Amino acid sequence: MKIVVLKFGGTSVGTIEKIKNVVKIIRSYKKKKYRVIVVSSAMSGVTNSLINKSKQISENFSDEEYDVLVSSGEQAACSLIAGRLLHFGLKSRSWMAWQIPILTNGKHKNSRIIKINRSKIIKYLKSGGIPIISGFQGINKYLRITTIGRGGSDASAIMLAKFFQAEKCVIYTDVEGVYTTDPNKFDKAKKIKVISYEEMLEMASLGAKVMQPVSIQDARLNRIDIEVKSSFVNKTGTLITKRSNIKKNKVITGISSTQNDSKVTLVGVKDKPGVAASIFKPLSKNLINVDMVVQNISANGKETDLTFTVKSEELVKTKKILLSNRQIKFRRLLFNKGVSKISIIGVGMISTPGVTFRMFQTLANKKINIQVISTSEIKISVLIKEKDTSKALMALHKEFELD
Ligand code: ADP
Ligand code: ASP
Ligand code: MG
Repeated sequence: MKIVVLKFGGTSVGTIEKIKNVVKIIRSYKKKKYRVIVVSSAMSGVTNSLINKSKQISENFSDEEYDVLVSSGEQAACSLIAGRLLHFGLKSRSWMAWQIPILTNGKHKNSRIIKINRSKIIKYLKSGGIPIISGFQGINKYLRITTIGRGGSDASAIMLAKFFQAEKCVIYTDVEGVYTTDPNKFDKAKKIKVISYEEMLEMASLGAKVMQPVSIQDARLNRIDIEVKSSFVNKTGTLITKRSNIKKNKVITGISSTQNDSKVTLVGVKDKPGVAASIFKPLSKNLINVDMVVQNISANGKETDLTFTVKSEELVKTKKILLSNRQIKFRRLLFNKGVSKISIIGVGMISTPGVTFRMFQTLANKKINIQVISTSEIKISVLIKEKDTSKALMALHKEFELD
């Protein structure tokens, strides 16, 4: 069976007109004799509004009920797509994750898909049906509804492609593909024809929300090629694939930036084993995601300064936890809300010397101060003032010949 998985994001099913357009795309694959599996997200804005409602009901809204509530947006979108296909006399129906089932494990709000039962969907495909499957949700072994993290319909699509051995997995969205940087923030951003899983994973983790990071990990592990393209214009998009399929590499493939980061500095903490662990343990217990971390060299051998970043919405909670932590002593606690992390990503930097220098020099020429640095084999990230983000982005985009 020639199977294709088509995923439509919230932006592609955001209005009734857009849903009608999505159905045109589905029909075009049907005409090419594909067995089509559709995955849909909720209409754009719906998931956010459900989350807001949960916050209004309770500051400590239960994680189990959160999953039931926020996964409901997908149900409506799937039903509307199926309804439109039925309108044209095609065989279609919606499938919620529990009806298939799509099994997940891990914590509520952030589960992972581990297995998808094939039998019902295969039978339905063979009968000529077009299943419209809700993205973002699953069930766990206690038969409770789960969700798989924001933007999770991408991962639903990848896992469906894996379990149904699809020939193609196409992610339809509101931009023409993956760009060198967010095309909605910088008009000189260029569409990338092909990008490796590793680079896409870094770009997504560092702020490019066009693909959910977990979905790229799943695709890499299972060697699933992904095509990202627009649901509004019929143009070739971006192929996300393994490195060996890519012939030419630029030094830098893309640039990502984050928003709403905050920097926390503990001045004058004791420089002895175990201190960092006792600072970060209660933060991790409270599910606060600590990002960049630097510890200064201790000048007198006794005290040091420790800096890290968290999301700004976690700042109040972070402050509370640090101040109530009796295991650590420090002289001062500093907070800085307006920072942003900007990262350059590319496998080309492995074999090209001088990339770090070029990045730092470019920022220096623009009088942009670097506050924290972190690197991996294929990325360099720096923390800068948030107000300098677009200046930095433009300068780096030009320096690495991405314009
Ligand atoms: P969907 O609703 O289809 O899941 P998302 O809003 O999750 O769509 O992702 C698409 C958005 O990702 C685009 O509108 C774009 O603003 C943003 N984006 C951020 N970085 C990039 C990038 N490097 N390339 C393309 N889009 C990006
Ligand atoms: N609707 C979910 C969200 O907004 C899942 C998704 O968009 O992929 O996070
Ligand atoms: Mg998305």
